[in-house]
Amino acid sequence: MRYHVLHIKSTIEKEWLKDLFDQHICELGVDTIDGEDYYIQSDLWEQNHEDIEAFCEYYEDIQLVGVEACPDENWNATWEAEHPVQELPLGIRIVPHCAFGAGHHETTSMLINSLVAADLSDKNVLDHGTGTGVLAIFAKRLGAKHVVAVDIDEKSVENAKENAELNNEKIEVLHSSVFSFQPSVFSLVLANIHRNILIEFMPQYARSLQAGGELWMSGFYEEDCPALQAAAEKEGLTLIDILANGEWRLMRCRK
Ligand code: SAH
Repeated sequence: MRYHVLHIKSTIEKEWLKDLFDQHICELGVDTIDGEDYYIQSDLWEQNHEDIEAFCEYYEDIQLVGVEACPDENWNATWEAEHPVQELPLGIRIVPHCAFGAGHHETTSMLINSLVAADLSDKNVLDHGTGTGVLAIFAKRLGAKHVVAVDIDEKSVENAKENAELNNEKIEVLHSSVFSFQPSVFSLVLANIHRNILIEFMPQYARSLQAGGELWMSGFYEEDCPALQAAAEKEGLTLIDILANGEWRLMRCRK
């Protein structure tokens, strides 16, 4: 398979905005991001280059400084050799590819620590916005009864399935187009996504929780907490606590 590499310089300050840019450029065909190098299969580049160029121009703080064909046909294998499987606690191993969530982001590690401290036996868990599947895999390894992992991004769905298999954990991984929130199904909902998406999905999260079930949300900052708490309370959830890691927050609520 042939690849092109795009060299993209960013001066975006807000980390979540850069994450959004990365997420969207993946939707246009980029499948691996390594610092300022964005890799895309050459045929997708041919098909989508006008959209990608226009998308980069749309961002003031982004500059597409160059594009080259990768010389190495085995580029994918080379990349994987240089970016080995991430080794996490409990023997969990994650191959990140393009999907977000190799496990080291402050938000992800806060959620992992909370999972490790909880009793998950008999719990039905939803991981909304699963990325690499990392949280879903932790929940299952820690004894959850059933874990559903959902993502809007097709490549994340594939990557989460691959990582679940790599870790020998049985997880139901679904694309969001085939997942619907049913009432009173989950005892724990994990959602590490942007604040606006969390607010948008709050009614579904609340509805899908059993009485006494918990919603753990991360992916936002201190200044976002009042809006998230208000949205949660509007749906009948009660704040349990807010944990911090650097500038990031984890909010836990109970139904
Ligand atoms: N859960 C992982 C990844 C978080 S990144 C971790 O904690 O490390 C957020 C993920 O949410 C991305 O994979 C993104 O594709 C997904 N996402 C964004 N909007 C979504 C939506 N509306 N529905 C489902 N998944 C979504």
